[in-house]
Amino acid sequence: MELPVIRKSADLSVEPNLREYAAACKTFSWDSAQEWIDGLPGGGVNIAYEAVDRHVVHGRGDHVALRCLGKQTQTDITYAELARRTNTFANALRSLGIEPGQRVFSLVGRVPALYVAILGTLKAGSVFAPLFSAFGPEPVKQRVVIGSGVAMVTSAALYRKKVAPVRDEMPTLQHILLVDEPGDDVSDIPGALHLTELLAEQSEEFDLAQTGPEDMSLLHFTSGTTGTPKAAVHVHGAVVAHYATGHFALDLHAEDIYWCTADPGWVTGTSYGVISPLTHGLTMIVDEGEFDARRWYRTLAEHHVSVWYTAPTAIRMLMRAGPELAKEYDLSSVRFVASVGEPLNPEAVVWGREVLGLTIHDNWWQTETGGIMIANYAACDVYPGSMGQPMPGITAGVLQRGEEGRAQAGPDGHVVEVPAGEIGELALRTGWPSMFRAYLDEEQRYNKCFVDGWYLTGDLAKRDENGYFWFIGRADDVIKTAGHLIGPFEVESVLMEDPRVAEAGVIGVPDPMMGERIKAFVSLKPGVDDDPKTLRRELTAHARRRLGPAVAPREIEFSDNLPKTRSGKIMRRLLRARELGLPEGDLSTLETGPVPANEEA
Ligand code: ATP
Ligand code: MG
Repeated sequence: MELPVIRKSADLSVEPNLREYAAACKTFSWDSAQEWIDGLPGGGVNIAYEAVDRHVVHGRGDHVALRCLGKQTQTDITYAELARRTNTFANALRSLGIEPGQRVFSLVGRVPALYVAILGTLKAGSVFAPLFSAFGPEPVKQRVVIGSGVAMVTSAALYRKKVAPVRDEMPTLQHILLVDEPGDDVSDIPGALHLTELLAEQSEEFDLAQTGPEDMSLLHFTSGTTGTPKAAVHVHGAVVAHYATGHFALDLHAEDIYWCTADPGWVTGTSYGVISPLTHGLTMIVDEGEFDARRWYRTLAEHHVSVWYTAPTAIRMLMRAGPELAKEYDLSSVRFVASVGEPLNPEAVVWGREVLGLTIHDNWWQTETGGIMIANYAACDVYPGSMGQPMPGITAGVLQRGEEGRAQAGPDGHVVEVPAGEIGELALRTGWPSMFRAYLDEEQRYNKCFVDGWYLTGDLAKRDENGYFWFIGRADDVIKTAGHLIGPFEVESVLMEDPRVAEAGVIGVPDPMMGERIKAFVSLKPGVDDDPKTLRRELTAHARRRLGPAVAPREIEFSDNLPKTRSGKIMRRLLRARELGLPEGDLSTLETGPVPANEEA
């Protein structure tokens, strides 16, 4: 049973950027999209120029770029102000001898200085590598060493806790740029400078580095859901894709108030929490606080957010908080909601309609793709559970897999696309501007991602008759049971249909009869105290009814905390490792409890 399609009415409150999908796919080309950005006055392209300075040039300098919601304060920063501040940051890097191409890391919460640092670094032609501030010393060290970081933007408290214990092991790291107000003794921090003092000495004028489209801009580490995080290299030319995907997939307009709830430590929080929205010249909410259902609803209502980009894990937390809370707030300003990062279970889409009165638009992409690749659009019908259709300019395919479960070229060197309805590896035709250009220092691994003109995503999917894509699972996560190929998401979604279930993680456990048997880990909503035996029986019966006996889980284990990455994704590899008593591998991205409070204080 599939949920009914959500038909989009013709009279959306704001004229959508993409009205006719098929027509847009026909007319759009990445070459013509170059006209959507300005380019540097002297030639070349620089992300920060497109995100900041060009709005000043076009007379929108007074428009608010960032509305920063601090713990006690609220600060508005206009585009003109952001242009000046990022200039001082770029000058500061120059004054420290930091050169174009060198890497500047951040380990700090969502404070204004972080945004100034990201954009200022790009202006200087240096490379920015954001880290999530809740990382501990090991993951910090691992990433700074891979990226040869020369500077880090952080706070004294975070430094002492997470950097000091491993500082000796990061010989390239020379400058520690502190966001704290000067005053406290920081003589224990080698190379420490207070940003306020450093920036005060700098000129507010800066000649932007003449970066070209292929110059490195950002170094992004993958979430580490399936193994050790990889360092994906991105370039300045990607900004065309940041603009175009914001235009098509998030329907960004210059008058929008936009809120992306992802932290810039993850690619979503940079591509769509900094760059894409600013290239559209809109006002962006920057929330320093962590998840809190009441405060989130209040933020949406009080700041009249019109476009909201969030993640399934956050939506499931709102669902846990109950429908009554949502009803206390006027969310009528919200025009468009999108979600990314994990599969969005159909039940969450239904909840969005019923409780928020909004359609949640799932979209799909990866650290490696640099931008949204497959999406549900404002003016297109939504099939709950589908991640939508490829962006104009993107060709997505579902490729036949070889014995190892990954797409493989035949003896003639070519891959084959499977027919609609069949499962294969999701792949993208190479050549879009935000495609990663390398895994830093891992050439072989990078090369293995490409076959016959396609980039292989490592995810399995199918395409339906309407051209919509459906996520099945990661190639590593799919389960082979009694001759069936099953994606964990399908089983998890059905378990989450039970109102008592908050979240589920499904894995295959080796079984002599069936190849693998399906095991589900289930966390319950607060206050559910049903007898586990009865509940297990009822959930199994529901799953058998919905999925058939072959696909229903054979085992259900109740677990309060499913292991998750710091960005909130369920780590099935860890569930499997624990189940089988295998080594757990790299855990640097593991979330061990509830979403961490910002540890900066
Ligand atoms: P690693 O590559 O280190 O294992 P990761 O793949 O989780 O980590 P990201 O690049 O942050 O790192 O995540 C991209 C992946 O997240 C996709 O390949 C896909 O598996 C999953 N994903 C993202 N969006 C969606 C979506 N809308 N539906 C289903 N899965 C999604
Ligand atoms: Mg990945």
